[in-house]
Amino acid sequence: MAKYQCPGCGYTYDEIQGNPHEGFPPGTLWSQVPEDYACPDCAVRDKEDFILIGGTPPDEAAQTAPSPAAAAPVTPAAPAAHQAPQPASVAQAPPAADTVYRKWLCITCGHIYDEALGDEHEGFAPGTLFSQIPNDWCCPDCGATKEDYVLYEEKLGELA
Ligand SMILES: [Zn+2]
Ligand SMILES: [Zn+2]
Repeated sequence: MAKYQCPGCGYTYDEIQGNPHEGFPPGTLWSQVPEDYACPDCAVRDKEDFILIGGTPPDEAAQTAPSPAAAAPVTPAAPAAHQAPQPASVAQAPPAADTVYRKWLCITCGHIYDEALGDEHEGFAPGTLFSQIPNDWCCPDCGATKEDYVLYEEKLGELA
């Protein structure tokens, strides 16, 4: 609702009150007043001369409230932890030359001394090389001397 005032006499038309005397019930909008309306007080000014002096201006405010729905941006998944390339495994050191255990054959009785097995009865731990056996050692079976032993593998090679 608004009020319009006659610039000539100061008469005010209030849309809220209307002007029952003029035939405008309360609530009659100024726009609803006939164009040939003239100021009831001075009768000099016409409707078009009246000026807006107050009231609620037309709704200019469909207030655009900022939408609170701004969802938080989705946080991208953290990139997978960069896996440092495994350093090339250290090349295995070339295997130490394996000690080749040999077998020795008593040429007298065929007893075999295996260096890998040693001879517990004689007190030779496994791995005891024939060369580590005391020279006074004798064949436990026939009593032949160490010198009577021949390299078993070599013996087989000869037979082959
Ligand atoms: Zn007037
Ligand atoms: Zn022997």
